Amino acid sequence: MFIDQAEIIVQSGKGGDGMVHFLREKYVPRGGPDGGDGGRGGDVILKVQTTLNTLAAFRHVTRYAAGDGKGGGTNNKFGKSAENLIVLVPPGTVIYDAITGDLLGDLTTPGQQLTVCKGGRGGRGNTHFKNSTNQAPRTAEKGEPGEEKRLRIELKLIADIGIVGVPNAGKSTLLSVLTNAKPKIAPYPFTTLEPNLGVANVDDETTVVLADIPGLIEGAAQGAGLGFEFLRHVQRTRVLIHLLDGLSADPLADFSQINSEMALFDPALAKKPQIVAFNKSDQPEVQERWPKLQKELIKSGYPALTISAMSRTGVRDLLLKAAEKLSEIPPLEETAPPMPVYRPAEDPRAFTISRTDDGGWRVSGVAIERAAAMTPWDHDGSVRRFQRLMEHLGVDEALRKAGVREGGTVYIGEYELEWQE
Ligand code: GDP
Ligand code: MG
Repeated sequence: MFIDQAEIIVQSGKGGDGMVHFLREKYVPRGGPDGGDGGRGGDVILKVQTTLNTLAAFRHVTRYAAGDGKGGGTNNKFGKSAENLIVLVPPGTVIYDAITGDLLGDLTTPGQQLTVCKGGRGGRGNTHFKNSTNQAPRTAEKGEPGEEKRLRIELKLIADIGIVGVPNAGKSTLLSVLTNAKPKIAPYPFTTLEPNLGVANVDDETTVVLADIPGLIEGAAQGAGLGFEFLRHVQRTRVLIHLLDGLSADPLADFSQINSEMALFDPALAKKPQIVAFNKSDQPEVQERWPKLQKELIKSGYPALTISAMSRTGVRDLLLKAAEKLSEIPPLEETAPPMPVYRPAEDPRAFTISRTDDGGWRVSGVAIERAAAMTPWDHDGSVRRFQRLMEHLGVDEALRKAGVREGGTVYIGEYELEWQE
């Protein structure tokens, strides 16, 4: 219940293709090359949005793809680059590569961003391939392909609103009717040492995380073993719903008891704004006690309302009041936010050669596979460029060492090439 988790696929855009084109103007008999470059494909960027606090959005949409760059035009015109795709995540989101398990980043501060997939670069137009021996190149690059990643996203849920009150006040019941949580509800004073968390929808865009903070805070103030998780949740809540047991002998005495226990436990906790809810209004005697109690509470400066958690009367109003209060209080600062990390892939120029079942050779490597994907194989000039790159990266030599022969089949990415010396 503490961790919200989602898996999504992100995909950056492909770069636009470079263009092969020659200048044609009335008074320029044989114009030079003027094919423009393709535009960049869009990046996929995760960005912290502080109003979010769950990963619920990723239940509905699991694939995020940025647009592709447009192709280059005539007259050296650049193709339009695609917009980056911004995916909003709540603060405290940790991102892993779901395949390798690598930690890609830890997003904590408002507006913090992490580029998870880089858009492909645009292919260069034929203008770039002009040289002293070739004034009319029919060569251009295709756009660089985008990347695709499967991400595992984790969020440690942090409670925004704590529900406090004496044992039996109805805290677990209230949590279960306001949220998706299924806490234990006991007909006797019952205390767990773990907070139950639940997510409640305030409106279409806003969710809040509520925690049922079990009674007997007095035990905790005296050092009875409450876990670290529990303390963390209690301390990070920004608004408290103080639930009073309407059937208690003296609800006001309960109220001040819990308040002084909180002050002992953590003075900061006692200072958090409280909304008081007088529970069990489905009982006639509770209704009778309410007007007098309400006066007293209001006199002490507490907003107070009466509810019945069990019959769900007034609980929605209570949630809206608490959420409204919450929106007036800025999120607590993280102490020393962890630094974001982004681990780039291994050296892109590295490659490996392996034998294939059909007696061929497979070359695997980021740079060489990308270059193969960017080569328009129907242009001699481009093919020659690719051959020079093979030499440059040392792929040729490695293939020869691996025993490739004239006519042998070499696989690179999705391409199948015939080896010629
Ligand atoms: P907690 O100890 O504060 O978590 O209290 P629980 O949620 O476990 O409830 C304690 C008892 O009070 C249970 O028997 C509940 O069914 C009962 N209870 C909770 N809310 C109401 C309510 O609105 N009306 C009545 N009549 N009983 C309630
Ligand atoms: Mg309980």
